[in-house]
Amino acid sequence: MSQLTSKDADATETDESSESALMTARRQLKRAAAHIDVDDGVVERLKHPTKVQRVSVPLKRDDGELEVFTGFRAQHDDVRGPYKGGLRYHPEVNAEECIGLSMWMTWKCAVMDLPFGGGKGGIAVDPKRLSNEEKERLTRRFAEELRDVVGPKQDVPAPDMGTDAQTMAWFMDAYSMQRGETTPGVVTGKPPVIGGSYGREEAPGRSVAIVTREAIDYYDWNLDETTVAVQGYGSVGANAARALDEWGADVLAVSDVDGAIFDPRGLDTKGVMAHDERPGMVSGYEAPQQLSNEELLELDVDVLIPAAVGNVLTANNADDVEADLIVEGANGPTTFAADSIFERRDIPVIPDILANAGGVTVSYFEWLQDINRRQWTLDRVNNELESEMLKAWSAVRDEVETRGVTWRDAAYIVALNRVATAKGTRGLWP
Ligand code: NAD
Repeated sequence: MSQLTSKDADATETDESSESALMTARRQLKRAAAHIDVDDGVVERLKHPTKVQRVSVPLKRDDGELEVFTGFRAQHDDVRGPYKGGLRYHPEVNAEECIGLSMWMTWKCAVMDLPFGGGKGGIAVDPKRLSNEEKERLTRRFAEELRDVVGPKQDVPAPDMGTDAQTMAWFMDAYSMQRGETTPGVVTGKPPVIGGSYGREEAPGRSVAIVTREAIDYYDWNLDETTVAVQGYGSVGANAARALDEWGADVLAVSDVDGAIFDPRGLDTKGVMAHDERPGMVSGYEAPQQLSNEELLELDVDVLIPAAVGNVLTANNADDVEADLIVEGANGPTTFAADSIFERRDIPVIPDILANAGGVTVSYFEWLQDINRRQWTLDRVNNELESEMLKAWSAVRDEVETRGVTWRDAAYIVALNRVATAKGTRGLWP
């Protein structure tokens, strides 16, 4: 096990197509710091992760061959509580990406006022190449390699790209076996039967829908007359689309990786199966019109929700977007250049760190349930999520109104203020 220094994470300016999560995270930190009275030393500390673990994860393949993978866990800041963030299994996982994403988690937890800091990790592996048994062995060994740096009071991982509730179950079991006690709070996003929370899977999409509803109200529009397009009809996109549809909005278009469907009278979102529920069902659905993913982004709708992958709204297409409001379901769907274009065009963008934060918020509820050994009902989870989202929404809205800044800057100002105040109050050790 070795530790990278923050030097490894230094980023330089580059074009938007290769802008890394770390560059974006640092840019946002700088922008937010310009608006508030925050100590330069605190900002300097927040540019760097506290620690990055890099581990080798040997795996005996089913055919008896041994393969060694590299895993990471970046821990950005824990001034407000244990590090919190996902573990992804993807061939392109690397230290810099984990550091950038762990920084985003610091802001996301802070904007929601959760007692967590930011973490992120993963293994550079293509999970589709592994059998279920290989994934289990890999996860158990990864849990063992990270055993010293994770824990319910230290760092609490969760599922991310390429990992799921089952992965978390294996991770939790491996950790618990070594500790000699069942420790459900070491990870969140577990199946409910072993300490997972009801409503966790739907939570990020639900929070996107709640924030969209609040934004529509803020701009004095009527949800019943609002039209919506959702790129990426997966866990986040489908849950957001279905909630908005249920609350009265017309979801005109949704897409998956293969393409988009469009119905000017509004789609039946319960009838359209998400990618995971039935692959190929979105583009295979009989709708009046089929579109490309690019065309969906440029549809003349009231609200556009990019909920698939990062960097889809760029300098190349931002001028062609016709939506009046953008709500970020995915992490980082808007590049820095596109953001400036939307600002100039007066198109509000509700940022990911607020909009999809329902996921980490219900993870926090799960952690509370695990510590107290008491499961909440789905109704309680959804009610508490609603009230946490409204609290965060009004804190961000206050900054928009008092400072006249964008929604993104407002969210980062709220987050940085909370983190910086905590750092200032605790002081520097030694
Ligand atoms: P998912 O795999 O369930 O769904 C992704 C959807 O996007 C699928 O319909 C897929 O077909 C589609 N897609 C993939 N690549 C695409 C492309 N290039 N163009 C158009 N569509 C494409 O994933 P998810 O969990 O819904 O996550 C979506 C985004 O939301 C990611 O950015 C993720 O980081 C973010 N997010 C997820 C959670 C969570 O807990 N699920 C929480 C917060 C943020």
